[in-house]
Amino acid sequence: MLRCISCGSEYAIYPLQSTCQKCGGSLEFVANLPKAGQMKFSGAQGFWRYKQLLPPVKHMVSLGEGATPLHKAERLAKTMGLKELYLKDETRNPTNSYRDRAAAFLTSHAIDQGFETLVCATNGNMGASLAAYAARAGLICHALVPKVVDVGKLAQMIAYDAVIEESGDMVDDAIRKAAELAKETGWYQATAELNPLVVEAQKTISYEIVEQFGMPEWVIVSMGSGGSIYSLWKGFRELKQLGLTNSLPQMIGVQTEGCAPIVSKLKEEKASKSCNSSTRALAILVGEPLQSDLAIKAIQESKGLALTVSDGEILAAELLVAKLEGVFAEPASSAAVAALQKLAGNQIANDSSVVCLITGSGLKATDVLQALNKKQKAAGLGLAVSTKQKILKILSEKDTYGYDLWKQLGQIMTRAAVYQHLNELADRGLVVSYEEDGKKFFRVTERGRKVLAAFDEIHLLM
Ligand SMILES: [Zn+2]
Repeated sequence: MLRCISCGSEYAIYPLQSTCQKCGGSLEFVANLPKAGQMKFSGAQGFWRYKQLLPPVKHMVSLGEGATPLHKAERLAKTMGLKELYLKDETRNPTNSYRDRAAAFLTSHAIDQGFETLVCATNGNMGASLAAYAARAGLICHALVPKVVDVGKLAQMIAYDAVIEESGDMVDDAIRKAAELAKETGWYQATAELNPLVVEAQKTISYEIVEQFGMPEWVIVSMGSGGSIYSLWKGFRELKQLGLTNSLPQMIGVQTEGCAPIVSKLKEEKASKSCNSSTRALAILVGEPLQSDLAIKAIQESKGLALTVSDGEILAAELLVAKLEGVFAEPASSAAVAALQKLAGNQIANDSSVVCLITGSGLKATDVLQALNKKQKAAGLGLAVSTKQKILKILSEKDTYGYDLWKQLGQIMTRAAVYQHLNELADRGLVVSYEEDGKKFFRVTERGRKVLAAFDEIHLLM
């Protein structure tokens, strides 16, 4: 059955619903857990290993999800003075994000219930996962995405043949649309925020962490709608109920400075009205999180905390994790590491054990490339600057000859190519040549200087 987390009202699982009709609280699935001491995990590794702790399903759609590595991040831990840091690497799922667990479960459940079509509103990962699993199971997947979505995730949805529809500026609009669509059409509701079974699927991440390491003291998860941090908390809590562990971790929820409605709610601050949609961490860009009550419950019950990090901190953490540990995380998951950098040695003691959830792959987002591009623009040099412009710039400082120019350009092209550029610049009257010491020197003409100034002007505008 489903139970409201705030008033305790109980509902049958069918029809699936996500919020309490009496108080509006989030509903969660209540499992019939075996008695303490009677549960033992056995069988193959992977998501379906935990089937008996999930809501009952007959079908088991799979692409090999779960059983993701828990890396001991020694080099990264050292930079923060931490004793034990682990990265739960969910990039290693079939479509490179933790949502594959939910997609495996929901497609199985949809087939059990006789559905042929799924609908989901998504910031990217959920849509990519569902599209893949729907393809695997022969179902149709309708994905409603906001205007700005990570390009890699969109590519996945297209490749897996989802029916994609753009819906609003932020995922909040898409979620409203998906709720209406499911009602109108009778399609299976696979939106993570509207289907309480998603939490059940994602709680298996915690089972794996405990099987791989034991119970950590701190677990850090980024928050969009708020369901994911609760999924992990629920998983840990159940292991304690099953008598498989005595302790529980403290849960830390992270949002970006530009969009932090859950953190504001927890701190009882007034959330700013609109979210800044230019944040890099698109996966957690949610203006009105439907599952904020779940996230707050996880943080309060576990005596955890919530905080924000800036876009700059996220990018720095993303590059650091990649450089030191060989794990390329998407910005939303790098936010967890950025948060840890702030907390280590302060709220988190140096001898603590910490797990950061790496939700998805950096290959799905384009933020690193965008950041590099911006940096080069700011310096006034780089990929966007043409070779001819560089040649004019060098010559505007001092006349010189072809071989020296080639060296100053960094020897990244043939010398013949440099002469070709010089000839073309001369044809346009931008440079002239003269002989000196038996060498052919080049000089910028007045016209050349004007063109160069115009280039700089344009660059300032870019
Ligand atoms: Zn209620």
